[in-house]
Amino acid sequence: MPHAIPEGALLRRADLLEWFAAHRRELPWRADRDPYRVWISEAMLQQTRVEAARDHFERFVRALPTVRDLAAASEDEVLALWSGLGYYSRARKLREAAQVIVCEHGGAFPRELASALALPGVGPYTAGAVLSIAHGEPVPLVDGNVERVLCRWFGWTGNPKQGALKRALWDAAARLVEGLPDPGAWNQAVMELGALVCTPRTPRCDDCPLAPDCVARATGRTAELPELPRRREAILVELEIALCRKPGAWLLERRPAGGRMAGLHEFPTRELAVREGEERLYPARFASSTLRVEGEVGAVRHTITHHKIEARALTADAGPLEPDGPLRWVPDAELESLGLTGMTRKVLRADFARALC
Ligand code: SF4
Repeated sequence: MPHAIPEGALLRRADLLEWFAAHRRELPWRADRDPYRVWISEAMLQQTRVEAARDHFERFVRALPTVRDLAAASEDEVLALWSGLGYYSRARKLREAAQVIVCEHGGAFPRELASALALPGVGPYTAGAVLSIAHGEPVPLVDGNVERVLCRWFGWTGNPKQGALKRALWDAAARLVEGLPDPGAWNQAVMELGALVCTPRTPRCDDCPLAPDCVARATGRTAELPELPRRREAILVELEIALCRKPGAWLLERRPAGGRMAGLHEFPTRELAVREGEERLYPARFASSTLRVEGEVGAVRHTITHHKIEARALTADAGPLEPDGPLRWVPDAELESLGLTGMTRKVLRADFARALC
């Protein structure tokens, strides 16, 4: 059996659970096991660091404390609360799923795996997290932390993101979560170990409860496992951003309804150099609008997934606007409640933009 769980792993679970009880971080979504809060936090934590998610989570659940509040919220309100976390389709799907939960499940996150997986935007990881942590069901989950811990603990080679090893990791996670009184604590314990001890670059094996039977440690292969696919090469994107100011308002543009960052607002932006074969991140709209560019006032750097953005900020005169076009004057008081791109928030905080107010 190439991917059998070693004997002794099931017995070792007690040590990891004990470690978790002593070392778990106090996080706002761990204050209780309310399925709604668990679900929102898990949706935020995919691709986002705990520290970045913490403030967003508190703001989100303060504004929309229940699944019914989320279902009734406008898309703009949800996008505004999500602003800065990226992956905005996730925020849209959360709202759609909340509507399904209210209409089809009486406002309660389903307990059955198949019903949870049928919700928009809910995949095996999120379903496993909510069902195990909030409902106490023995449902497995695998994320990057779990992949790393299990591959090292068992000495498993191969790409954990696909094929036989991916299936083996889910099978192992299912086997390990079985028969425990608190499956949610187990799932969180493995993820917490990956976040705090079995870290990607410098695992602290001397402090690890799995160390006595960890294959990677015993064979000196902690640096080699897991065998992750190479990251995509970074792509440099050069932009110009138009800052048009009139007393008390900025000129912003709403992004098109489909595609990246759909429906969010941003400063009119144009992409200067696009490599052949690469999709544009930004519509080239302001080149054809009535904006008249004046002088350069500053620059910002920003990253979106593997795109490294360098943007020059230019002041500009707006000229007459199309009545139903994507450009509109947004009063300062409205900015907080509007879905803005992360880069737009960054520019608004920059000294050069504040100097124009
Ligand atoms: S002993 Fe080291 S490599 Fe093995 S699971 Fe623990 S921290 Fe990770």
